Amino acid sequence: MLVDSSQCCGCGSCAASCPESCITMEYDSEGFRYPHVDPAPCIHCRACEKTCPVMNPPSPADSPKAIAAQNQDGHIRASSSSGGIFFALAENTIRSGGLVCAAVYDEDFSVTHILADTLQDVARQQGAKYPQSSVEHCFAEIRRALRSGTPVMFVGTPCQTAGLRAFLGRDDANLLLVDMICHGVVSPKVWARYLDERQLLDAGKAPVTSVNLRSKATGWSHYQYSVSINYANGASYQACQSKDPLMQGFTLNLYLRRSCSQCVFKGTKRCADLTLGDYWGIWDQNPEFDDNQGTSLLLIHTPKGQEAWDTISGQFRFLETTYQEAVSRNLSAAASSVPHGARDKFFRNLDREKSMIQWITQCLGGGKLGLIQRIRNRLGV
Ligand SMILES: Cc1cc2nc3c(=O)[nH]c(=O)nc-3n(C[C@H](O)[C@H](O)[C@H](O)COP(=O)(O)OP(=O)(O)OC[C@H]3O[C@@H](n4cnc5c(N)ncnc54)[C@H](O)[C@@H]3O)c2cc1C
Repeated sequence: MLVDSSQCCGCGSCAASCPESCITMEYDSEGFRYPHVDPAPCIHCRACEKTCPVMNPPSPADSPKAIAAQNQDGHIRASSSSGGIFFALAENTIRSGGLVCAAVYDEDFSVTHILADTLQDVARQQGAKYPQSSVEHCFAEIRRALRSGTPVMFVGTPCQTAGLRAFLGRDDANLLLVDMICHGVVSPKVWARYLDERQLLDAGKAPVTSVNLRSKATGWSHYQYSVSINYANGASYQACQSKDPLMQGFTLNLYLRRSCSQCVFKGTKRCADLTLGDYWGIWDQNPEFDDNQGTSLLLIHTPKGQEAWDTISGQFRFLETTYQEAVSRNLSAAASSVPHGARDKFFRNLDREKSMIQWITQCLGGGKLGLIQRIRNRLGV
């Protein structure tokens, strides 16, 4: 028996663990992937139940150590969403002969996890991509790598990290688990349709060459980051996140996965050694530290996480804060996102609407949006 679909986080651990391959991940009408079970070959071993992180959620732990950090290499920080901790951890793993499992854009700009063994692939993994990534195809490969003594660093949403941990069934000295403060994930279908429409508006038929949902060209402090898209014909699109329809719908929870509204991996209920996030509010807490280029929030949960931080901390300008201070302006650290009032209507009519951009704007209530966005930004949600 699998968890109710409203709670299923889509990590795919059940599919990856089924010894008879009875479970496949299939898209629903909202564009999220859910397990589909073929009952005929099922041998009732219950591996799917045992490895479901939602059915076996982590317990709360002590408050972690909290750090505000900036990578001192300006190029690395510019191409990272926050302060560039991911790249430093990943570089260290690759130089030790290990593998880094994290999310990239595919050729068609859908989001998927890959195992990287080069810094070129790590560069593709940099940067937050808000559509939900598919990940379970990497789980068996990670287990094989660990069994052969290869170090692996895994980075994913808290539910994906818990899914991998449940799939593996035990900790491994060679495995570094890194999750993030997570607002929720966007429907891959909404993302694909948004990008198709953007392309048509901005560049006609010219292919998209790059996407950055966390560009710092317009700054980082006070949530001033922007969406930036480039096309093969030299055209480009850039809009501050508060003006971009996709990011407006994301921050106002119009098309997050249903389970994101009842996430069981919030606060200190995590399976990770480290948690990464943006140190939102650093400009008020410690104005002299903020330089508008991005500051990471790092939470250290385990001795293994501390060891990983000790190895890279020399590359950072950092200061220790407290857990309470660090998450006080980052509500997603401890609370699930409350679905937008028009969420159900949005998805009900999605396939009938011709313009994704207009439909998002209409569901968000047009002109009232700017005000709501500013209030939410101030509250850090
Ligand atoms: C869906 C999502 C929601 C987030 N919500 C918040 C939030 O509410 N508050 C907050 O403080 N921080 C949030 N973050 C984290 C933040 O955006 C940065 O990713 C994080 O601070 C790491 O930054 P960095 O500079 O160290 O590294 P970066 O170079 O930015 O590394 C980002 C890492 O996240 C991985 N990643 C990117 N997209 C995905 C994805 N779709 N699924 C799984 N892994 C992915 C990348 O592969 C990479 O390992 C969110 C990230 C994601 C992906």
